[in-house]
Amino acid sequence: MLKCSECQRDLPEKEALVNKNEEGEQRIICPECFQKLTGVDYKTFAFRKENAKQTFWAVLFCLAATVYAFMEKGVEWGIGGIVLTVLVYLFSSKVK
Ligand SMILES: [Zn+2]
Repeated sequence: MLKCSECQRDLPEKEALVNKNEEGEQRIICPECFQKLTGVDYKTFAFRKENAKQTFWAVLFCLAATVYAFMEKGVEWGIGGIVLTVLVYLFSSKVK
């Protein structure tokens, strides 16, 4: 059993969240305290994190495709790829 360092509640390991305080020290907190401290509940937070990760991979993929198109097909395709990358980025950050 772990203890929430904020409300001192006993906490099953799978519910324990690691949070950094202002001094950069890691501590264990429960989902309720996470929500109190950050203003978002943990599910929303995890969802946003996952979404950001997906955006990152999508943009990375587009960049790789852009470089490939640039080398294989020429400058126009490269520019097209950059435009596409920007669109993908804008679109995925809007979905949040
Ligand atoms: Zn707590």
